[in-house]
Amino acid sequence: MSFVFDTLAIPSVPVVGSHARFPVHRIYCIGRNYAEHAREMGAEAVSCAQPVFFLKPADAIVSNGGEVPYPSATKELHHEVEMVVALQSGGRDIEASRALDCVFGYGVGLDLTRRDLQAAAKAKGLPWDIAKGFDASAPVSALRLASEIGHPSRARLSLRVNGELRQDTNIAEMIFPEAEIIAELSKLFELKAGDLIFTGTPAGVGPLARGDTFRAELENIAVLEGRIV
Ligand code: MN
Repeated sequence: MSFVFDTLAIPSVPVVGSHARFPVHRIYCIGRNYAEHAREMGAEAVSCAQPVFFLKPADAIVSNGGEVPYPSATKELHHEVEMVVALQSGGRDIEASRALDCVFGYGVGLDLTRRDLQAAAKAKGLPWDIAKGFDASAPVSALRLASEIGHPSRARLSLRVNGELRQDTNIAEMIFPEAEIIAELSKLFELKAGDLIFTGTPAGVGPLARGDTFRAELENIAVLEGRIV
């Protein structure tokens, strides 16, 4: 098969201990998955019934930190540190009890957000795409293999900006753990090998400015370091 112009490189993420990279198919994100963060964003009631999902384009990936460009059209770039789940298989209507079989590995990432545009979209009932799915909005660490580390149900998740602790929680606090996120997403989309899932951010989201350095960590699993330029 030929194409009418050269195809773009497949977005990918490094894998710890492997020369081969993880090719990214889609980036799914869940909102309001930590009660304290839902409250800080002004959600009136934290609903455990219906998760909030959105997507970022696969080429929003910034692989393993480095320099992240400050996006256009915002005066309020916010950090959201999140555990990232990488899938090696997928399907539809996956049972939560079998969902972890789909997991290739784990990393840590930033769900970068144009908070001012998100607030305006929320106020008008408009979609979040321009607030969440912009270029370079998804810095992600190298992935650790689930076959080596298992499936963490407890791990400290933290973010430092210029050395100052901004976000600090334990993934045990997630309203929807990763198996339930996979099960719920698979009711809406056919999940595939190569999908990444950002599993939601804890309280403490805040601004990033040009020149800020960040260090996100999922303890004993992944570290992501970089700088806003
Ligand atoms: Mn988020």
